[in-house]
Amino acid sequence: TIGYFNGEFISVEQLVIPIDERGHQFGDGVYEVIRVYDGKFFMLEEHIERLFKSAQAIRLQGDQSIEEIRQLIHEAVEKSGLADCDVYIQITRGVATRKHLFPDVPVSVSMTIRPMKPTSDTVREKGMKAIFHEDERWANCYIKSLNLLPNILAKQTAQDAGCYEAILVKDGFVTEGTSSNVYIVSDKTIYTTPLSKHILAGITRMAVKELANGLGVPFVEKQFTTEELMQADEVFITSTTNEVMPIVNVDGKNIKDGSAGEMTLKLNAKLMELVKSVQHT
Ligand code: PLP
Repeated sequence: TIGYFNGEFISVEQLVIPIDERGHQFGDGVYEVIRVYDGKFFMLEEHIERLFKSAQAIRLQGDQSIEEIRQLIHEAVEKSGLADCDVYIQITRGVATRKHLFPDVPVSVSMTIRPMKPTSDTVREKGMKAIFHEDERWANCYIKSLNLLPNILAKQTAQDAGCYEAILVKDGFVTEGTSSNVYIVSDKTIYTTPLSKHILAGITRMAVKELANGLGVPFVEKQFTTEELMQADEVFITSTTNEVMPIVNVDGKNIKDGSAGEMTLKLNAKLMELVKSVQHT
């Protein structure tokens, strides 16, 4: 697996990050996960744009232009020789003796390129289980920051309960998953949490909104409660790595009859069509 750190491409096994790297000591940085399907990037520009937005939100100003970052990502994937992979890219406030205040040093850019296998149809058609979990994160979840401790704890709690994802809940309303956006389908209408500082504006969410519009399915951005979710016809999550994934059971209770929703699977099929049709370069 190929890795990159501040100008050097090197195998991930050999890649060493300096002890005083701010990502390491403070989680003082932002990141993106970008999917490559069959040698083609999916929504690369949107991911790069969000990366720069996140960086700006934490007052992280690198010397690299969007153009240079795009070039770097392309170079990394080319070097990896992988046609189906995930690009993980992070930008941090650089390497400097540990002090809280912003150091006057160049930002660090690092990447890993790892092979990705498509999720099997069997797994998707079976769907995943989830739990509800208190959203214990901070007030700026629209920033894709490296600080994922609440997400990690909630996801592990889900795993310990035999589930895949934790659906985060704030004041009785669903915000999002630990690494996904959450949707319900009721009366042939898709509902998802409106964009705000409390959730990440998912790139897959953006794609699914367009696909729903294309299908003539109402896409309503409105908060919903845990009860509304339990009563829904279908529940699903979206993310770059999971695409459109059915959630069939939450806290041990089935959603309807506990099978993957029809609309959910249709949206995923449409997403896969989109993946095949677009050729971002
Ligand atoms: N919400 C959170 C908290 C995430 O970490 C992620 C992705 O990892 C998402 C939503 C989905 O975003 P995207 O579709 O851009 O992968």
